[in-house]
Amino acid sequence: MPLQTPDPVKIAILGCGTVGTQVVRLLTEQAAEMAARVGAQVQISGVYVRDISVPRDAVVPRELLTSDLDALIADSHVVVELMGGIEPARTAIVDALSAGKAVVTANKALLALKGAELYESADAANADLYFEAAVAGAIPLVRPVRESLAGDRIERILGIVNGTTNYVLDEMTTKGLPYDQVVAEAQRLGYAEADPTADVEGHDAAAKAAILASLAFHQRVSLDDVFCEGISSVTADDVAAATESGHVIKLLAIAERTEEGVAVRVHPALVPLSHPLAGVRGAFNAVFIEAEAAGELMFYGQGAGGGPTASAVMGDVVSVARHIANGGKGPRESNYADLPVLPISAARTRFQIRLNVADRPGVLSAVSAILAGKGISIETVRQSPGSGGTAELVISTHRAPERDLDQTVSELRQAEAVNTVLSVLRIEGE
Ligand code: NAP
Repeated sequence: MPLQTPDPVKIAILGCGTVGTQVVRLLTEQAAEMAARVGAQVQISGVYVRDISVPRDAVVPRELLTSDLDALIADSHVVVELMGGIEPARTAIVDALSAGKAVVTANKALLALKGAELYESADAANADLYFEAAVAGAIPLVRPVRESLAGDRIERILGIVNGTTNYVLDEMTTKGLPYDQVVAEAQRLGYAEADPTADVEGHDAAAKAAILASLAFHQRVSLDDVFCEGISSVTADDVAAATESGHVIKLLAIAERTEEGVAVRVHPALVPLSHPLAGVRGAFNAVFIEAEAAGELMFYGQGAGGGPTASAVMGDVVSVARHIANGGKGPRESNYADLPVLPISAARTRFQIRLNVADRPGVLSAVSAILAGKGISIETVRQSPGSGGTAELVISTHRAPERDLDQTVSELRQAEAVNTVLSVLRIEGE
């Protein structure tokens, strides 16, 4: 039932950290504009935090702080969850939805792990569940995938959805610095957390990939379905070799529809300099979508930070507040498709293999024979002199199944002519 204006729409904010503080600021500073856009006053009913005695940013009115979660949810129409983590966020969201409250969250980890439970709670109560900020911060992406492209067929998503790793790889590329040194500098500048594992090992990107794949392919894809490999083993030599072959290394989140099902993976990849994702610098995010009718689309912007993330949260708050003030509901979960989620071994990709080999006749044909034996066809080979009677071979392959590649690399490691397999990187976007 729509509210009888001028009743205010009451918003509970759970969490008052980097994002929560900015949401409180925007709701407070732009109250008059929000009211005009929504068609009713939008009022913060309270801000839930662990410890109300901790000093807060001056934009947060102290009288709004509370540690009584149940009372705050009961007294609100909209619950904006900005605590992060699994609990108590999961229970708070499920309780709020079950009570018919609209929920807005930025919590990618929770959506990727427990999305099914949250969507079911929203469906059962016919309540709104919005999460634009959970994928790529300020970039409008959830709405375009869930709504604007709902009449099209998404074939593939290639995304740079983690700013920390893009910053690290960009610095390695432009300054020729080693991984450890760049990560240490990123931590000093605040681009990387004190414990950077979730970013550099790809876990954060994998959560976003699961959310995007679920929306794009109309079926549930959870974090466990996503193959995940981070950037911590990318070396300065890999980056230099990528530059030489006309590529940059990016950590990509990839969700694609194949003839056999859908495949969702996160890993570093060589992206040709001509591809739009190659030009995404620093901590920026970008997502490239290929759809059957729309063709290629690119979304670009700031994927994190208090202000940018709060912008996406506020868009959701306005949407659900409009529904409360004027009636209506947002889109329901669409999970009718039942395509198999494929393991990484079934993925078909191009590869670049770098080898240190003995610099003598017959080596190239021995290496070629190993690839040919597994049905992997070579596209290009580049050879450069190494030291002490060795050479470096950089082999780019045509598309091949990952499982064949794994066996090929094992054979190369055993081959008499091969001293070391220096790196194996997938090539995407060509
Ligand atoms: P944050 O700075 O760590 O703030 C978290 C807030 O939640 C704090 O105010 C904290 O309370 C409160 N909180 C945490 N656990 C709690 C608990 N058990 N009980 C009560 N309160 C609790 O986090 P953030 O960076 O704002 O991120 C919030 C959410 O946005 C996360 O889901 C994150 O993944 C998502 N997100 C963040 C960004 C970004 O750039 N920061 C970007 C996209 C999405 P105290 O203040 O009392 O400790």
